[in-house]
Amino acid sequence: MNILERYHAMEYGPAPEARNEADAWLAGRDFSKALFIGGDWKAASSGKTFETSEPSSGKLLAKVSDANAADIDAAVAAATKALPKWSASSGYVRAKVLYAIGRAMQRHQRLFAVLESIDNGKPIRESRDIDVPLAIRHFIHHAGWAQALDRDFPGQKGVGVVGQIIPWNFPLLMLAWKIAPALAAGCTVVLKPAEFTPLTAILFAEICERAGVPKGVVNIVQGGPEAGAAIVNHPGIQKIAFTGSSEVGKIIRKATAGSGKKLSLELGGKSAFIVFEDADLDSAVEGLVDGIWFNQGQVCCAGSRLLVQEGIAEAFIAKVKTRMSRLRVGSPLDKNTDIGPLVDLTQLDRVKGLIAEGARQGAVCWQPDAVLPSSGYYHLPTLATGVSPANILAQEEVFGPVLATMTFRNTEEAIELANNTRYGLAASVWSENVNLALHVAPQLKAGVVWVNGTNMFDAACGFGGYRESGFGREGGREGMFEYLVAKLPLGPLIKPATASAQPVEQAEGSAIDRTAKLFIGGKQVRPDGNYSLAVATAKGKLAGEVGLGSRKDIRDAVSAARGCKAWPEATAYNRSQVLYYLAENLSGRADEFTARLVQLTGVPAKAAREEVDQSIERLFLYAGLADKFEGRVHQPPARAVTLALHEPVGVLGIVAPDNQPLLGFISLIAPALAMGNTVVAVPSERYPLLATDLYQVIEYSDVPAGAINIVTGRTAELAGVLAKHDDVDGLWLFADAETCAKAEADSIGNLKRVWSGNGRSLDWASEEAAGDALLRRAVEVKNVWVPYGD
Ligand code: NAD
Repeated sequence: MNILERYHAMEYGPAPEARNEADAWLAGRDFSKALFIGGDWKAASSGKTFETSEPSSGKLLAKVSDANAADIDAAVAAATKALPKWSASSGYVRAKVLYAIGRAMQRHQRLFAVLESIDNGKPIRESRDIDVPLAIRHFIHHAGWAQALDRDFPGQKGVGVVGQIIPWNFPLLMLAWKIAPALAAGCTVVLKPAEFTPLTAILFAEICERAGVPKGVVNIVQGGPEAGAAIVNHPGIQKIAFTGSSEVGKIIRKATAGSGKKLSLELGGKSAFIVFEDADLDSAVEGLVDGIWFNQGQVCCAGSRLLVQEGIAEAFIAKVKTRMSRLRVGSPLDKNTDIGPLVDLTQLDRVKGLIAEGARQGAVCWQPDAVLPSSGYYHLPTLATGVSPANILAQEEVFGPVLATMTFRNTEEAIELANNTRYGLAASVWSENVNLALHVAPQLKAGVVWVNGTNMFDAACGFGGYRESGFGREGGREGMFEYLVAKLPLGPLIKPATASAQPVEQAEGSAIDRTAKLFIGGKQVRPDGNYSLAVATAKGKLAGEVGLGSRKDIRDAVSAARGCKAWPEATAYNRSQVLYYLAENLSGRADEFTARLVQLTGVPAKAAREEVDQSIERLFLYAGLADKFEGRVHQPPARAVTLALHEPVGVLGIVAPDNQPLLGFISLIAPALAMGNTVVAVPSERYPLLATDLYQVIEYSDVPAGAINIVTGRTAELAGVLAKHDDVDGLWLFADAETCAKAEADSIGNLKRVWSGNGRSLDWASEEAAGDALLRRAVEVKNVWVPYGD
């Protein structure tokens, strides 16, 4: 073919990226000493290694030290030793180190990109233009947070030694997402990369040496699940940050239950890519290519479920197929490659297995005609149509180049289909009508929504999931909170309730039976079991009885809370007014509540009155903050704004403590309500009458039915039911340590967000036990990306 013919044919020629520098680096390193601990390179104490190979050929790249529990001990010891000096160093000192890391990475940008593509198989275009620049941006962006800590996070400090475990799909980028905010917050880290992709983390450790990171501040250990579990269970670690599968996320949630470790989980997804009929279809097709075939679909937020409006489905699918036929499958080091190999043979087999099962369940799987390279773990891009919502390809995270397609008729159906998943990581909405897109975005149960775009990320914008996609955010201000702790004023230790607290004597003048019922769906209802619980006065006499709530009552309360749409959909101003009414009506009955507090707890009248007044004040506070604890607008370095919206968590279970029983109860339910959550509250087992006395206050205050539900009874039992209930989105627990630990472990069904005092209550009268610290726990942050320009 002469030049003219080539020009007319417009065919791609080979455009390989040079790999000699990466090969020289590989040849020059001793990978049997690949553990970076306390600033030294160490062999695994067992002497063992594991192999990492090249996905495009299957060839061995290196045999890397395989850490065990003893090595993790050494790494935690090094991080612990380095912590005091690092956390006490000024923000400026830490900022300079973060900046130096970013700059040193820039100087080795090409080596990082080539090494990443060799080890992971991702096309060089992606590692060169996305993974590595974004990783660098994380370090440079977080240098600023190190200096802004006092200004932006008053009263907060670094959590301590952090254990970080990352997956293989974005090895360097995930490392950056973890290490940058931790260092900015003054934490020291022990990070474990995934066993398929250890290499760029080793190069990164070399960068740390050169950038002047103090010894022990960053420790990088290599290994598999055994090393990961040793990190998770290590008592010297104060926080675990995990990115990986929901399955392992659940194991970690269970393993850390009751340990008091802070935890963030960035897990899997099954994200919807929604195309409305008024979308710019050609742009949507390009977006879809990026959405599902970026990194061979091995992306947690991959748009793996295409939901397309019925009227345009045929035309759109035809365009998708045409575009798929032009995707170039080949060597990851070729600059023209769109699709490289999957990371490993096991992953390839898993993808094939899921496609076969999907086809058995009725999906029609289509692939373009293309010849795969003769070696390596390649898989053709695959389009599945005729997929029913229950099909495995619509429900399971494939983590491969497979797109499942469904159609919808109208907006409501699109939202319903999009939310029909246990995950909630991301979604993409395509419509030329921005009003429609911004109407849909808040209704999607996902932590990130891209309008007319996909896979947009930035260090300043939070990323993270709803539901079983995990909890916590990475990036920007939202992500910084994951590495900080506020010193909340502690209250008393909470002891398990004992039967001896039971009163024996009838109090004077209590001849009339006044058994308080439960409060469910806006009504006072008898407990399902028709049992009641006696409540004692401070003097051990019978003060009254309350319903003994059971599993069935909690279920009814949860379904009332879930069914209450009026509260989460109300405007913040509306909610604010209702909370003001509650305060007003409680204030009208202040004497009565004061007397009740004296009767039940035995506190002097003055102290009781003070608690009532503080409770009223607290309601006022949250009424006022209901329309002020707002989200933000991020301005990433792209032609887009990112709206970080505060949304309610959903149905919140609240288990209230005994100390300051009225103020404690109100201090917990008010912020939850202010942010639009609906609540199932279990009041103190010892003093439930303070909550049941509130029924009338609630009834007179225009609270919609189902917004507040109150189930009295045995704390341990009811907390357990709430923890296991998969329709409860979050749980706040102030109960004895055993109940808290058990509830945390039991929460894995739907990975609900649990905030537990771990057997300790708070001093509810203190200022720190009110305001932002609680409001932050009452919201999920959703980042909605809205690009602009033609
Ligand atoms: P994985 O859960 O198998 O492994 C992740 C990491 O955990 C690895 O380092 C592994 O060695 C370690 N590990 C495995 N078992 C462990 C245990 N019992 N205790 C402690 N550590 C353990 O996941 P993967 O296959 O490496 O990665 C793919 C998954 O990661 C997908 O589900 C993907 O969606 C998810 N992911 C999520 C995000 C996000 O931000 N939400 C980003 C990237 C990937």
